[in-house]
Amino acid sequence: MSENFSAIAYLIASIFFIMALRGLSSPETARNGNMFGITGMVIAIATTLASPSVVSYDWIIVGLVIGGAIGDIIARRIQMTALPQLVAAFHSLVGLAAVFVASAAFYQPAAYGIGDFLSIPTPSMIEMSIGTAIGALTFTGSIIAFAKLQGIMSGAPVIFSGQHLLNAVLGIIMVALVVMICDEQSEQLYWTIVGLALLLGILMIIPIGGADMPVVISMLNSYSGWAACGIGFTLSNPALIIVGALVGSSGAILSYVMCKGMNRSFISVILGGFGGETSTTGSVTGDRNVRAGSADDAAFIMKNASNVIIVPGYGMAVAQAQHALREMADLLKKEGINVRYAIHPVAGRMPGHMNVLLAEANVPYDEVLELDEINRDFPSTDVAFVIGANDVTNPAAKTDPQSAIYGMPILDVERSATVLFIKRSLGSGYAGVDNELFFRENTMMLFSDAKQMCEDIVKALE
Ligand code: NDP
Repeated sequence: MSENFSAIAYLIASIFFIMALRGLSSPETARNGNMFGITGMVIAIATTLASPSVVSYDWIIVGLVIGGAIGDIIARRIQMTALPQLVAAFHSLVGLAAVFVASAAFYQPAAYGIGDFLSIPTPSMIEMSIGTAIGALTFTGSIIAFAKLQGIMSGAPVIFSGQHLLNAVLGIIMVALVVMICDEQSEQLYWTIVGLALLLGILMIIPIGGADMPVVISMLNSYSGWAACGIGFTLSNPALIIVGALVGSSGAILSYVMCKGMNRSFISVILGGFGGETSTTGSVTGDRNVRAGSADDAAFIMKNASNVIIVPGYGMAVAQAQHALREMADLLKKEGINVRYAIHPVAGRMPGHMNVLLAEANVPYDEVLELDEINRDFPSTDVAFVIGANDVTNPAAKTDPQSAIYGMPILDVERSATVLFIKRSLGSGYAGVDNELFFRENTMMLFSDAKQMCEDIVKALE
């Protein structure tokens, strides 16, 4: 295949990737977006395989079979609730791949057309060392994020004095090493950069915890994109450069949007140390009374309502309650009740988690509204039906400056006439913060598994 032809094929693949991103920006077009992404990837892989620089297909086939089999098994088995840590694990592989490719190019530059061992031209050396450094820190950072989300290590921030200063000093040393290796290439310098970046990846992610983890995932997503982009330059592969830049910039934009959703400054999340401490206001679960109700009570209250806003959260995903929930909503709509869904930007455990589940249950898109579209409607709402959500409704985010979630915008469910909370206990959510709302006079707790309770309410409504 001629070089011109592969350049055009890579360009076409890149256009498909851009269309994929466009499609994935809305649940209505997400399936098409996925198809565009698959098509782009098939074109990119076929173009690479047809390149004259491929001397043997043996290892490529072995890699495709092993990697494809692992991917296939994981995709079939993975629980929706475990997707964030899976994404983190996959990012670590992208980072590691970047380090491997850069190391191969460092030792065999002639094979990549970038000079000879230890006399690589400066521009290539800059790309390679930056790609390696970002790849290595993405690798260890993603492993730490995986371990935190999987519960292998504590999700709380690990903080020690002088941490920010240490990270800053290591960052400056890293830049100095990259400058030095361009001036005088040596194996020791190369591996020092790799080692330092591996350490920096760990140090950058351990102080981030609790409710800030979603931002970490999209941030690592962005890093993995930039690592791939850097390696694209080393390999002179336009598709990798474009795709890397797309992933890098869209991950950065997503991180920014999520920071805005949680009212955090991007810098404070990156520096870490927030989001893991439990509120210092003391436990609200003491001997205070709560009003507990049954499915019959919930059905009665909702049947007599004109407006119901459903607020789904992580517990709905755990219970896989979305289908039973939609059935319940359908029955309410048949009674002439206005039913809508309110989605918090960080509800669940990954961006868009609730939207995906509701779409899977065929909830009409026009009933699903974002926080800023629906929050002002709670005061004129009869029932807020909170199903497996907790942190995203917690007023401590507005009232308690000591709280780990202070400053995060919340869904103002407490402003509706009645709040129904489905959850199994008075336990806290991801951020480990007690929720005062459970004890309010206008709250009724429905202690149950979310799916079970929805099914019972459906029976009661029928
Ligand atoms: P929360 O984690 O605050 O609360 C979920 C609640 O669901 C728990 O309190 C739990 O209470 C309840 N629950 C669990 N299982 C069930 C079940 N089977 N049936 C009924 N209830 C159940 O979830 P939210 O969605 O409100 O908030 C998301 C949190 O996760 C935020 O703090 C966010 O920052 C964080 N996060 C978000 C990510 C994202 O990208 N969206 C990624 C990582 C973290 P009980 O045990 O009593 O049943």
